Amino acid sequence: MSDPQDPGGRPPVGPGPRSRELFARAQDLMPGGVSSPVRAYRAVGGDPPVIAYGSGSRIVDVDGRSYIDYVCAYGPLILGHAPPQVADVLAAAVQRGTAYGATSELEIELARLICEAVPSIQLVRFVNSGTEATMSALRLARAYTGRTKIVKFEGGYHGHADGLLAQAGSGPATLGLPDSPGVPASYAAETLLAPYNDPQAVGRVFERYGEEIAAVIVEPIAANMGVVPPAPGFLAGLRDVTARHGSLLVFDEVITGFRASYGGAQELLGVAPDLTCLGKIIGGGLPVGAYGGRREIMEMVAPLGPVYQAGTLSGNPIAMAAGIVTLQALQDPAAYQRLEVVTVYLEDGLRRAAAEAEVPVRTNRAGSILTAFFTAEPVTDYASAKAADTERYAAYFRQMLSCGVFLAPSQFEAMFVSLAHTDDDIAATIEAARQSLALVR
Ligand SMILES: *Cc1c(COP(=O)(O)O)cnc(C)c1O
Repeated sequence: MSDPQDPGGRPPVGPGPRSRELFARAQDLMPGGVSSPVRAYRAVGGDPPVIAYGSGSRIVDVDGRSYIDYVCAYGPLILGHAPPQVADVLAAAVQRGTAYGATSELEIELARLICEAVPSIQLVRFVNSGTEATMSALRLARAYTGRTKIVKFEGGYHGHADGLLAQAGSGPATLGLPDSPGVPASYAAETLLAPYNDPQAVGRVFERYGEEIAAVIVEPIAANMGVVPPAPGFLAGLRDVTARHGSLLVFDEVITGFRASYGGAQELLGVAPDLTCLGKIIGGGLPVGAYGGRREIMEMVAPLGPVYQAGTLSGNPIAMAAGIVTLQALQDPAAYQRLEVVTVYLEDGLRRAAAEAEVPVRTNRAGSILTAFFTAEPVTDYASAKAADTERYAAYFRQMLSCGVFLAPSQFEAMFVSLAHTDDDIAATIEAARQSLALVR
């Protein structure tokens, strides 16, 4: 691991010369220089550092600057960067070939771990991303119910599939893109929107369209408008209204699966959906998604049933191997306790730092995900999240970066804490926040 940078000694704001040179080349070759728009620094200013490697809780750029990482690849890296057990398993796995186009024992084992951890999943299908998982789950829900409409929540992100980009949270919100062109209006019309944590609004949507609604898709703990936990009874209400109208309840647990608890948000909150979408953590840092649920529904998926969905690299043995060893590490009963304790420490420190600097900040935390919103009011839905002062967040972000703390370049993302984050990391982060907040007052 490289030498941790003293968070007290501030290098100049912005990336070093090697990063700048490489990022200029990246922008000549790729739109915005990035492979995913959330990585761009348009909302916060400046150019992003170009990354050389990650190790434990830290990410290191090509100029050798080391940052305490709270992006953690936007969720998958719950064990931190390059955890030894994952690195070892991957090194061995590549020796046995990287893809088979046939069922492997690794796939069966990861499927077993998932079905055991999440009892509402009786059959599971592996795909390559969270986007594929949600898109496929909704195709299945439409086929199963014979209906076409989907209900999603404002500020909820479920991947970039057509029809799911309406009011889709962090990425589009940060770039000021409410919806994406290129999605046919006829198709977007199949998506109905309701505010998160508003059961009355959901009730009204069902009164009007109940017979046409195939499914409600929801992040059981919203994390793409910043972290917004569900109000008490909100998810139970969704369970109830969907059941009464013959619609399916789809939990998008791409972030919360194996994060909120080993059994996901559904275990923590005691509400079982019909279908669950997974991604991020189950791939241990490799590209994986999965969807699963009740047997009678999943039996409609090809080859058992008529709903077609396929993938050349789905169930990829390298990705399965990384997923298995990651879930095994999370079976340690101390894991979630540690994540909770370390993230509470971080949340308390950020709150105290904000109070001391007299900067209005509201923190929302669910286990090891956390957002510090630059607002004085509680954040319970997309409208209240968007009331946050994004200019001030941008200034804070730049100061934190210069102090060696790597945050997402958006007010509307979570901080992801991993098992690799040490108490010293948190202490250094809080000290960086004290200095940064004092400068953005
Ligand atoms: C990241 C995310 C997705 C999309 O997953 P990708 O692997 O990026 O396609 C879907 N839903 C939620 C809740 C996510 O956070």
